[in-house]
Amino acid sequence: MKQTLLILGGGTAGTMIANTVRKRLPEVDWDITVIDRDDVHLYQPGLLFMPFGRYTRDQVTRSRRSCLIEGVTFVLAEVERIEPSSNEVRLVGGDVLDYDYLVVATGTSSRPDQTPGMLGPQWRKSVFDFFTVDGAEALAAALTRFDHGRLVVHLTDMPIKCPVAPLEFTFLVDAWLRDKGCREAVDLIYVTPLAGAFTKPIASAQLGHMLEDRRITVEPDFLVERIDNEAKALVSYDERVIPFDLLVTIPLNMGSDMLMRSGLGNELGYVPVDKHTLQSTQWPNVFAVGDAADLPTSKAGSVAHFSVEIFVDNFLSLIEGKELTASFDGHANCFIESGDGKGLLIDFNYDTEPLPGSYPLPTIGPLKLLKETRSNHLGKLAFRWVYWNVLLPGRPLPLPSHMSMVGKKPPALVP
Ligand SMILES: Cc1cc2nc3c(=O)[nH]c(=O)nc-3n(C[C@H](O)[C@H](O)[C@H](O)COP(=O)(O)OP(=O)(O)OC[C@H]3O[C@@H](n4cnc5c(N)ncnc54)[C@H](O)[C@@H]3O)c2cc1C
Repeated sequence: MKQTLLILGGGTAGTMIANTVRKRLPEVDWDITVIDRDDVHLYQPGLLFMPFGRYTRDQVTRSRRSCLIEGVTFVLAEVERIEPSSNEVRLVGGDVLDYDYLVVATGTSSRPDQTPGMLGPQWRKSVFDFFTVDGAEALAAALTRFDHGRLVVHLTDMPIKCPVAPLEFTFLVDAWLRDKGCREAVDLIYVTPLAGAFTKPIASAQLGHMLEDRRITVEPDFLVERIDNEAKALVSYDERVIPFDLLVTIPLNMGSDMLMRSGLGNELGYVPVDKHTLQSTQWPNVFAVGDAADLPTSKAGSVAHFSVEIFVDNFLSLIEGKELTASFDGHANCFIESGDGKGLLIDFNYDTEPLPGSYPLPTIGPLKLLKETRSNHLGKLAFRWVYWNVLLPGRPLPLPSHMSMVGKKPPALVP
């Protein structure tokens, strides 16, 4: 009898898994099905550039169906609930699908409804986000009208997908305002719940200096309690008040409510998994990959990519009755746009924080770690092509899934 691999979510991780596994398992023995609530695959890193008119909606979206190879079934439906004890998935509308193995790849999404006042009368008037296409488009329109006052960039809480995105936006908006000739008329303020610019000490120091050099004020340790729409201000639990003319916020990010309804999600809706094998800690035939997993590393497309390779090895072992020997090390790498056609790159894992050096080859690079260069910026732009044409179709990218210390300066030598 045929077996079924059911994949919930046809985003970055779900699509890569379906296409990679399909090439490894015969169609006579295996059905592979992807379920998603819509047919619009979004290249999310492109959202960063939309507020500055660099990309349009059409340049960052494609049909999900068209991203799946032949032999993968696509079901357009909202998942209502998973019943792991009976290996069933219930869809909104009443249909029920059975599975032998399940991959949860439902990602994470912005939840402005979780902060009082965020979805109030100023939403998309002077309070904006850019983690959705609609939000990025509305912000683009607002930025063309903005030429003086207080522009506040705000991060509600961690974890968020692409934890460097709010910093990148801040660097890009600083450069944008300089290009428009109105930077002097704008107070640019970066508000974060963290103690510094970023989570990891060496990168945080470097990025903190870059904010300082650009005369961007940092408001650390700010835990937002509400947005006061009348006063147009962020208010924290310790009663600090930060007024704004234009607020660009990253709302709380949460996993799918469906996972909480199914008893599979933690308090933020992420699935507890073994951080090395990606297997659910509760159900051996269930895995969570990508942003949906409760992994102690960044929520990023690069993590989805590296961990998919580990997942595929372990999944193939599991169905052959073998031990799961592939081990994910939390490998993440992210380009960080810094404005003026430059960028940085960070590369790290569960145990090693981002360090200076070169990547992927020692000395030659061509990419530099934790250093602003033109080649890093070009690498970020080139990544859109790589995403659609190499990663999603499940073609091999010549980068190891495990992080390497080759080319990196050991922490003891970093001043
Ligand atoms: C502004 C921005 C910039 C970024 N930049 C970078 C970058 O430079 N580098 C990088 O590595 N990463 C970046 N990322 C992060 C990266 O895009 C994500 O981490 C990655 O896409 C996660 O993939 P995923 O498959 O886990 O989730 P997603 O790709 O988000 O897919 C989840 C899918 O699940 C579906 N779904 C959820 N719930 C249900 C349900 N109940 N029923 C049916 N379907 C459901 C959704 O519709 C969605 O299609 C960025 C993200 C943003 C927002």
